[in-house]
Amino acid sequence: MTITGTILRTAIRMAVGAMLAGGLAASAPAVATEDTATRAAFTAGPLTAAPGTMVSGFLDIAEGVDTGTKVPVTIAHGAKPGPVLALIAGTHGYEYAPVIALHRVRRALDPSLLSGTVIMVHVANMPSFMERTVYRGPVDGKNLNRVYPGRADGTVSDRIAHAITAYVIAPADYVLDLHAGDGNEALRPYIYMPVTGDKAMDRAIRDMALAFGLDHIVIDDQRDMSARPTRYTDQTALVMGKPAITTETGQLGSVVEDWVGPAERGVWNILRHFSMIPGTATPVENPVWLTGYRVVTSPADGVFIPAVRDGYAVAAGGRLGVLQNLFGEPVATIRAPFDGIVNYVVATPPVRRGEPLAMVSRRADPPD
Ligand SMILES: [Zn+2]
Repeated sequence: MTITGTILRTAIRMAVGAMLAGGLAASAPAVATEDTATRAAFTAGPLTAAPGTMVSGFLDIAEGVDTGTKVPVTIAHGAKPGPVLALIAGTHGYEYAPVIALHRVRRALDPSLLSGTVIMVHVANMPSFMERTVYRGPVDGKNLNRVYPGRADGTVSDRIAHAITAYVIAPADYVLDLHAGDGNEALRPYIYMPVTGDKAMDRAIRDMALAFGLDHIVIDDQRDMSARPTRYTDQTALVMGKPAITTETGQLGSVVEDWVGPAERGVWNILRHFSMIPGTATPVENPVWLTGYRVVTSPADGVFIPAVRDGYAVAAGGRLGVLQNLFGEPVATIRAPFDGIVNYVVATPPVRRGEPLAMVSRRADPPD
């Protein structure tokens, strides 16, 4: 892990930008308060931020058994004490809406008014982002959200996970893993709300899920919390005792306001929920609670023609779509396993055997 000159350049650019913009972020010089005078700097890996400042730079994933990469990260260290919130975007490199949402947050977040610390991972999976791959990284063919907590001596996805575990999740009190429908997935925004079995933890997770503000919440009670390795980003945080949720806002590589807006608003809502910024949190009322989700996978390689769209209600046995062969002839009708809501459906043609075609969840009663 090394600091690059970019941090300093970015800090200078930000200061100049703020002066030019006359503006939004940090337009007034930080006033040294009692808090800032006594508050320690915050360090995450190679990045250190003084109270009331924001720094950006890279976690350097050194070359190992395969090529290295760099993970762009921003730390906003508030002038006042408070929790440490980790915001992780770009775990899947074709899920752009949360990446753009965090850029907006970075521009507007004023560390002189912040209580606590925000660690933003702008793009966790740079190899996938730059090569526009879905699900898996192009170097090692691994799904970054299945290799946590990672390993220092593994392939590049393992090493990214290892660095994010050490420098982003470990120092955090709360973790948001910000996803979207991947480049091939039409997705109706929702939250995965993990259930750990620990009452206090589950209450904190539920409060986060409601605070983020999406109106579809999937009660994710199919996790084996004792499983090791933890595989998932959020599960890695949970087993370390940190409440975490995974959010899904966006689809098909789009960065229109419909998808970026909910991700950005969700982050501000969470910051208010933890009293890290001024303002009152307004949790979503009467969300659609879902459970028992099933990912319907493809029985063969081919071309998938969906019969439903994201968010549709389907009956048990209802058509989700048709799998065709490479000559456009129908091979299989893909049907809903039960009555439910289509959380996402694959909306671009190519599919491989075993890959997701759609995710369906059942309606559920609100949790206790
Ligand atoms: Zn994802």
